[in-house]
Amino acid sequence: MSKLEIRQFSCLSDNYGFLVRDPASGETAAIDTPDADAYLAAANEAGWTITQIWNTHHHFDHAGGNAALKAATGAVIYAPKYDQHRIEPADHWIGDGDQVRLGDHIADVIYTPGHTMGHIVYHFAGQKIAFVGDTLFALGCGRLFEGTPQNMWDSLSKLRAWPDETVLYCAHEYTQANAAFALSVDPDNPELRSYAIDIDQRRAKGLATVPTTLEREKAANPFLRPDTSELAKSVGLSDAGPVEVFAEVRARKDRF
Ligand code: ZN
Ligand code: FE
Repeated sequence: MSKLEIRQFSCLSDNYGFLVRDPASGETAAIDTPDADAYLAAANEAGWTITQIWNTHHHFDHAGGNAALKAATGAVIYAPKYDQHRIEPADHWIGDGDQVRLGDHIADVIYTPGHTMGHIVYHFAGQKIAFVGDTLFALGCGRLFEGTPQNMWDSLSKLRAWPDETVLYCAHEYTQANAAFALSVDPDNPELRSYAIDIDQRRAKGLATVPTTLEREKAANPFLRPDTSELAKSVGLSDAGPVEVFAEVRARKDRF
């Protein structure tokens, strides 16, 4: 099977747009639609034709370009069924356990409520690639606009169970600010410290810090580590369970 091709480009102020293509069939998916014009320009530059749109959640910077991109390309839209009242237009409503495909490549749809209650992510298990929207960021996670800490911890736990080599495409370039916060709650973590230096160097050169890998995030992202004794101790909750520690870390990030 041919390898998936991916194009990543900046949209709006700090979103990333992604196009994913199966070269054998030419099937090409737009992951979310923060900015239809930017997607059309990226597709044009690559010589690709967008045939599908896969939404992660209803926020404007993820589904706001659906109508314009569909009008320009005729792409078929897949969107989370949990958001039927607030995403439009869509052709197929999908949810946990469903699969979407690009030629012979299959992506599993995983329900990850927390940031919003409709959020889904797309996991190409065969290629160890995932598009995680606003659920997981490099050194961070989505703000809990709708879900509870329990919801988000359960969602992140699903992602954390994937193979370490999984490449994670997050929807925003938030990493440098996330690193500053992560160091405030996990200052002695050597993997985090070296990761933060690497991030500063990349940003100084204007380079993206996305994608990241699950291995790196498991070692350094505080939102994937609330069940470690180091992090629990660091936020003064040594005897607490992971949900309580997660909630405390998330609350501190909201105030940071
Ligand atoms: Zn969002
Ligand atoms: Fe977003």
